Parts: sequence; C-alpha cells; structure tokens
Amino acid sequence: MASPLTHAVVAVTIVAVHDLQPRASRTWLVAIACAIAPDLDALGYWLGVPYESFWGHRGFTHSMAFAVLLSWICANWISHSSAISRLRLWSVYLMAVLSHDVLDAMTDGGLGVALFSPLDQTRYFFPFRPIQVSSMSLSDVVGPTASACSQTNVSGSGSPAA
Ligand SMILES: [Zn+2]
Repeated sequence: MASPLTHAVVAVTIVAVHDLQPRASRTWLVAIACAIAPDLDALGYWLGVPYESFWGHRGFTHSMAFAVLLSWICANWISHSSAISRLRLWSVYLMAVLSHDVLDAMTDGGLGVALFSPLDQTRYFFPFRPIQVSSMSLSDVVGPTASACSQTNVSGSGSPAA
C-alpha cells in the first residue's frame, strides 16, 4: 500500500543506504517530507480541484519536474547547516521524491502519475502494478481501519488515491 507511511519508510531507507549523518535528524526529516510532499495535492480534492487537472491529485506534484525542483530547494536549504554537500543532498532528496512517483505508478487504483508534467499531462502507470492503492481519507490513514488496505479511488469512494 502506497500510504504516507510507506513513502516515509522508503525515504528513511534511501537516507540510510546513502549513509548520511545518522544524527542529522533534520536531513532525515526533510527526506521524509520530500517523499510525502507530492500528496499535498490531495488537499485540492477538498478545495474542488478536479482530480485529472494539472493541479489535481497525481498531477504536477507527481512529476519529475516537481521532484527536481523540490529536491533542489530542500538541498539548498539543508546544505547551509550541514556538512553534506549540496549535490549529495540533492541526489538523496531527488530519489526520495521520485520514489513516491514510482510507488504511485505501481498502484492498482486511481489515475496514473503525470510523470512528464508540465510538458505532458498524460497519467502513467507501470505495466506491473502490484501495490494496492491506499485511501487518502484521514480516517483510513490514522483510524481504526488504517491497517486494512482499501481499494478506494475517485470513482469508488469519492476520495482520491495516494
Ligand atoms: Zn501520491
């Protein structure tokens, strides 16, 4: 299930593999934030932004362009107070954001991911989609049914898929 927790775990794994200062909690927290940030577009769902639009869920914030931009901003920010080079931070944060897109493109519900936005608004899935999509409903993420993986999507439950 590609839930916020799943994205966070992948980000922690990416940071750990790159052996970034284990005690630099800010470095880790930013990597986790990078991995979860693309789903901030789900807020648009409650603001009336159509799912399939540029700013809709899995739209621009799930693109490679957004990944490059967000990771570069974060790397510049963290590098001012870190001994880790900006380029190394950027590569780790870029992988964290892109891991989100890869996982979402492997889910079995919702719309695909606009990987090439803003140049191409087509939503893509990988041909191999073994991950059951999770609900973006807060009650499904933290509520008593959190452990149950739901197959909700826009057409199914009215809430977008992660
Ligand atoms: Zn997502």
